[in-house]
Amino acid sequence: MQRVLRQFPDIHSYLRGFPNILDSCSRQCDHCGAEDALVGHGTYRRSFVTFGFKRTIRIQRLRCTKCPTTISLVPLFLRCRSPYAAEVVRQVRTARARGAPLYTIPASLAAMGVAVKYATIRSWAARAA
Ligand SMILES: [Zn+2]
Repeated sequence: MQRVLRQFPDIHSYLRGFPNILDSCSRQCDHCGAEDALVGHGTYRRSFVTFGFKRTIRIQRLRCTKCPTTISLVPLFLRCRSPYAAEVVRQVRTARARGAPLYTIPASLAAMGVAVKYATIRSWAARAA
């Protein structure tokens, strides 16, 4: 299970807030609703691609003491099961909304330091329509 942390819209705020992430999150279980039941359950590393660089950050995990649920605290700028930051997808959808032909977008992204396959861009654009 994932919980999106809206208080971290970008990597800078996330890196600043990460050391105190356990203090700043609710301890109520997202699955069973038990109060004060979530405890730290280690971290894992997650890589993602955004404009100009690839980066690896740590993701905090929580475990419920009342049910078998584990929860990952994922910052807002990451996307579920995607190696690309949300801002990359937003860039594609904005370009499409402004009328940019789909076939021109891979080269525009490459100029901004992000290599994305045409098929991936096409699927992002299709989901936005
Ligand atoms: Zn629970």
